[in-house]
Amino acid sequence: MDKLTKSPRLNTLLNQMGIFSPYDVINRLPRKYEDFSYTRERNLSDKERVVLLGKVISLPKLVPTKGPKLITFDFLTRERNYFKVIFFNQSYLEKTLKIDETYSLVGTFNLKRNEINGQRIYKGEIPKEESLKPVYVLPSSYPHHLYSGLVKRCLKKLEGKIFSLVPYFYLNKYRLINKEVALNWTHQPRDKKEIHQALRHLKYEEALLFSLKNQMIREDNKSLKKVKKEPIDFEMSAPFVDSLPFKLTEDQKQVSREIIEDMNQSSLMYRLLQGDVGTGKTIVSFIALYANYLRGDQGALMAPTDALARQHYANALKIFKNTKIKIALLLGSTSPATKKQIKEDLIDGYLDIVIGTHSLFTKDTSYSSLGLVIIDEQHRFGVNQRIALASKGDHADLLMMSATPIPRSLALTIFGDLDISTLYSFPHKKRDVVTRIFSSESDKIFGAVDYALKNDKQVYVIAPLIDFSEDGRFSTEQLYEKFAVKYPNKVAMLHGKMKQDEKEEILKNFYEGNVKILVSTQVVEVGIDVKNANTMIIYDATHFGLASLHQLRGRIGRDGSKSYCLLITDDENAKKLNILTKSEDGFKIAEEDMRQRGPGELSGIRQSGIPDFSYLNIIDDYKIFVVAREDAKEILNNRDNKNYQWIIKRVNYLISDEKVKKA
Ligand code: ADP
Ligand code: MG
Repeated sequence: MDKLTKSPRLNTLLNQMGIFSPYDVINRLPRKYEDFSYTRERNLSDKERVVLLGKVISLPKLVPTKGPKLITFDFLTRERNYFKVIFFNQSYLEKTLKIDETYSLVGTFNLKRNEINGQRIYKGEIPKEESLKPVYVLPSSYPHHLYSGLVKRCLKKLEGKIFSLVPYFYLNKYRLINKEVALNWTHQPRDKKEIHQALRHLKYEEALLFSLKNQMIREDNKSLKKVKKEPIDFEMSAPFVDSLPFKLTEDQKQVSREIIEDMNQSSLMYRLLQGDVGTGKTIVSFIALYANYLRGDQGALMAPTDALARQHYANALKIFKNTKIKIALLLGSTSPATKKQIKEDLIDGYLDIVIGTHSLFTKDTSYSSLGLVIIDEQHRFGVNQRIALASKGDHADLLMMSATPIPRSLALTIFGDLDISTLYSFPHKKRDVVTRIFSSESDKIFGAVDYALKNDKQVYVIAPLIDFSEDGRFSTEQLYEKFAVKYPNKVAMLHGKMKQDEKEEILKNFYEGNVKILVSTQVVEVGIDVKNANTMIIYDATHFGLASLHQLRGRIGRDGSKSYCLLITDDENAKKLNILTKSEDGFKIAEEDMRQRGPGELSGIRQSGIPDFSYLNIIDDYKIFVVAREDAKEILNNRDNKNYQWIIKRVNYLISDEKVKKA
């Protein structure tokens, strides 16, 4: 393939950005547009961003200051308004600006001093049709104007070679503009209407492909039938439910019923059980495992970490104490001899339930009759997951559990065939967590720790990083020192790079209350349950997504007593955390999180299991998803229509491509 640019350095950068072809270049849209249309100069308000056309009417002067270099000159606009202009750190302007020449000046207006704080200045007038300039996300070492040039070249190169996958009928129906025009307009818009028109096409096309893919995978899934089926009903589990150390909440009962009914269907269950941290998902999964045992099948419960798997195992031993159910724990770190034994016991059907991590589904693990798979704290539930499981030959019902709430309408649209059960209520008194924002210098921090310790409570301190960093973010190492000096013998540190047994020792000490303050990375986000912890201090809070912060604070106040979450930040964007101080509603917070991060900010979205989209925003473009979903149905109902062959072929290709990647 031809190199994209002549510079090997830039080519490497492009490849690192995932760009290998001219198509990749033009498919990557600007993140935003900067508007350079001229400002109406009447009634400018203070701090307003302005773009002015006018002439420099005094020689630029370098003003001596102690701080940054300051240039000033006088500017007379076309509308005959006069402003003083200052520029910081652009001393070359002293040489380049010429008196009586026409310039376009971009800056902010200072009302009190009738002054413009200049940001940029361009020679001449900006033509109206070029006043919207695309802004691309680039590594700092890639000059923006060079990238813009590359985009132009690629658009030129692909002239006449860009086709839409949207069938003609729908292009017409929605009056979508030609795709090539759409791509040109997104990169070189003459006005906002063009951007809007262009995006309508690109977003619709993306949504249609996505919906088709979903529905075709669903057809595949539907054809997976259970090997055998023993009907069970919720009432059969009644003696077991009565034997539990507590009474189920109404939600838990309802959801358990939904799950068991689903397990009775002839097609395989594919269900998400969602519920905020502490709503009691585990016991529901145990009831499902019990029902599965009653129908004579084996069950597997997979957790994301060793610690959580152990916690579930200990729990299961207690809960199933008075039954004949045989349970084993299988971890990566389990000794080879024990592993071998467990695997044998699974194959010959001696074991009823196995709890563990990924090792439950490695190639050399087989089951005599696996009927139910439960995946806890599942953040990623792609439509393809069932295919992945089925391709292992496991025709089992699948239940995924997640504390990341996904708004229902959204989930239905995005994960077409996923059924959802939700636990809304908490078994205990609802958690009572007071959340406040402080700066890292605030004495409220030690104050909160003192208060917790005085009441014999425990404290989490969370940092975004493990080691000292250059960019000034807080690390566990650094915070460990800070707290250990102030509270000797009370503090321990926990992070993902530590050895397994070291981690376990520390967790155990925290569970048992020997350690009062646990300084940790986000690893505690998942599933750890220490009821006595009622205070959490999260450093560099803006570094985490809102949904993650909400998950994190779900670790405290688990016995319903009043607890305190301190969000520590010195970031000017602290405002975006405000919703956490006001709301406990995980759904609302998740929505706001997705909105703030947008479809491009990968990690947050990935974590909540929602696929990345290039053009679509899953919150704001909800309506497009809905429309595309109906259209996809329509297309599949008429799949012999030769106008649809192209797009269906393409989707088939996408699906098989993903299967290959998964294998
Ligand atoms: P999560 O939904 O976060 O996984 P867990 O299943 O860990 O929540 O449950 C949180 C705590 O609540 C556990 O200690 C569990 O034993 C307890 N619990 C669950 N259901 C009930 C109930 N109905 N009544 C009282 N306590 C319950
Ligand atoms: Mg849990």
